[in-house]
Amino acid sequence: MTGSGTAHPDVDVVVVGAGQAGLAAAHHLSRRLPAGGSFVVLDANDGPGGAWRHRWDSLTLGRAHRVHDLPGLPLVDPDPDQPAAQVVADYYGRYEQHYALPVRRPVRVAAVTAPEGPQGPLVVATDAGTWTTRALISATGTWDRPYWPRYPGQERFGGRQLHTHDYTSAEDFRGQRVVVVGGGTSAVQHLLEIAPVAASTTWVTRRPPQFVDRPFDAEWGREVERRVAERVRAGLPPVSVVGTTGLPLTEEYRRGIDSGVLVARPMFTEITPRGVRFADGAEVVADVILWATGFRASLDHLAPLHLREPSGGIRMADTTVVRDPRVQLVGFGPSASTLGATRAGRLAALAAVRSLTTSGTGLTRENEHQPQPQVES
Ligand code: FAD
Repeated sequence: MTGSGTAHPDVDVVVVGAGQAGLAAAHHLSRRLPAGGSFVVLDANDGPGGAWRHRWDSLTLGRAHRVHDLPGLPLVDPDPDQPAAQVVADYYGRYEQHYALPVRRPVRVAAVTAPEGPQGPLVVATDAGTWTTRALISATGTWDRPYWPRYPGQERFGGRQLHTHDYTSAEDFRGQRVVVVGGGTSAVQHLLEIAPVAASTTWVTRRPPQFVDRPFDAEWGREVERRVAERVRAGLPPVSVVGTTGLPLTEEYRRGIDSGVLVARPMFTEITPRGVRFADGAEVVADVILWATGFRASLDHLAPLHLREPSGGIRMADTTVVRDPRVQLVGFGPSASTLGATRAGRLAALAAVRSLTTSGTGLTRENEHQPQPQVES
């Protein structure tokens, strides 16, 4: 039994989170840490899969954008009709076993502190004890921080309000009048699923949706990363994918526009007990408001390190936090996709190993994990 008071043996690197980003980082750590080096991956979930484990069943792999391969062990020929939650959880589970990655779960990191100042070790406090480490790779994703904007009257609404985070199935909306808020892919996918069974759907967005007639391919992904990276380098908070490049105009989306389901109204000004009211005074009566308003980075555990700039963002050089180079952030900003997370995981592992070998702190002897032999690149 380990409780929050247990002190675990010191490690050289702690990775927080076992999603795409954390597993990619762990893979490279296991190959790059010099002999005698040690690391551990702490993950809050009950089982493998990262955020994917929580996605709704109708989000099949075929409807997801694309799940990029983790390094070394590809996701071979997955069934596009299977729920992505299941496919990805199975894949990550196989991956952890194949590389014997030292994942500890469920372990939730509550706070990371630096009691001896900027040159000393970091102390990682969790609900299963404390780890002391020289370097930290934070790969905690966004799923735990759904973003709910505030609008006047929100508390008076007599119907149901939920966020994408809690969406399970279109069936829950059968026969209901549904207002969907948000201009991203989740909103679009919710609307297309719900419209055939709902009494009515109304789509509202802060800015008119920008459908862009271009393929949703690797170049699109790279452009998203490029644009978000510019902001993060400048210490500004990252923006959403859609805010960066618009929505790709697929055949399915085109049909949705033609049928009127994917035609958005500007944001309402007020929520009433019966629905929502627009700037012209018109009210749309609703049973449900579904907030598809995105997520924010889960970084609360890093608050004691004061990593934020006055502009509100965290300035980074690649994956390294400029204010505290002991900390690498992955799956954040430009790397918030499975492709970006995979690349960032590698960069973060290399930077963490470099920081250990150049800081002269020496590598820990008490191993949680011995690096695996180098088998492939
Ligand atoms: P996650 O998968 O969120 O993993 C983070 C892990 O950290 C979790 O296991 C969590 O339990 C753990 N954790 C969090 N906080 C703590 C803590 N304090 N202590 C310990 N552990 C913690 N990207 C794509 O490339 N293709 C897609 O099709 C796609 N579809 C998406 C659909 C939706 C609805 C959403 C919201 C996002 C989608 N994304 C997609 C983006 C997706 O989030 C990333 O691709 C990627 O899966 C995120 O990986 P990650 O490792 O950064 O985070």
